[in-house]
Amino acid sequence: MKLANEVAFITGGASGVGRAIVERFVSEGAKVAVFDKSVDRLKELEQTFGDDVIGIVGDVRQLSELKTAVNQCSEHFGKIDTLIANVGIWDYNMALVDLPEDKIDQAFDELFHVNVKGYLLAAKACLPQLVETRGNMIFTVSNAGFYTNGGGPLYTATKHAVVGLVRQLAFEVAPYIRVNGIAIGGAMTDLRGPASLEMDSRSVTSMYKEWYEDDDLEAGKENIAAASPVGRILQGEDYAGSYVFFASRDDNVPATGTVLNFDGGWGIRGIRRKTGSEGLLEKLKVKASEGL
Ligand code: NAD
Repeated sequence: MKLANEVAFITGGASGVGRAIVERFVSEGAKVAVFDKSVDRLKELEQTFGDDVIGIVGDVRQLSELKTAVNQCSEHFGKIDTLIANVGIWDYNMALVDLPEDKIDQAFDELFHVNVKGYLLAAKACLPQLVETRGNMIFTVSNAGFYTNGGGPLYTATKHAVVGLVRQLAFEVAPYIRVNGIAIGGAMTDLRGPASLEMDSRSVTSMYKEWYEDDDLEAGKENIAAASPVGRILQGEDYAGSYVFFASRDDNVPATGTVLNFDGGWGIRGIRRKTGSEGLLEKLKVKASEGL
């Protein structure tokens, strides 16, 4: 077990990628405090994971709520070794031309408040505890932290801002705390949009249903998988191991201020072809095993 005796504090751990991280951290021996706004999902988590997980209700936009939660975690589990700042909302790729003029201010503020200030406030709240344990922070970025078309201008700007936050905080808190980011790719989760754009009841999964007729959803997923160099849709579980890696004191002392592109290979797609492996098996005269 790579995280025995470690304690993690994660925001947005009650659903999607965050929930997969919680499950994986527990299986690696960690105790986890989950800070999330969803009361019902937190209850379900506590029932599922028993003594290994505590759920704390709150909003990442409120420093006072984060500080109370951090104190609760420290009292309950005795310390905090890892902060995982993970809550995010998405703009559903809304382009500049489509942004309603009377909503731009609110939408900009809402996306930056949750996606960027939410991380900054979580880092501020955990700072003393993480210095004490010489712990680490891990920020969930996105392929949109590096490339276009993973969001509209608002979401893409927030995730680029998170990359800057990782680097600046890593500088400010070294050598006491390591700060790293993980730029994950897509996953079928409950990721929501900003209320100011009336996207708070949409989720990524419902978006796939909008793009593809209900009965064609599986075919739609295959289209998305076909666009990815690794050739399949990725899920929270696929990303969780990278968080264990960055949290692990055995494996990851050298890394700080880094952002790992962990997205299925969006950055190496070719100009004329997605991948360059056409004809590879024939030339090598070998068969590849099925799937990944
Ligand atoms: P999700 O919606 O399934 O999970 C997010 C969790 O955050 C939910 O449990 C929700 O209740 C909670 N939450 C939302 N707003 C909150 C707030 N203000 N305060 C407290 N809790 C709040 O989403 P997900 O897809 O697992 O997203 C996790 C992270 O992954 C986000 O930062 C997102 O930008 C990033 N990401 C997701 C994808 C994707 O395709 N799903 C791709 C790249 C990056």
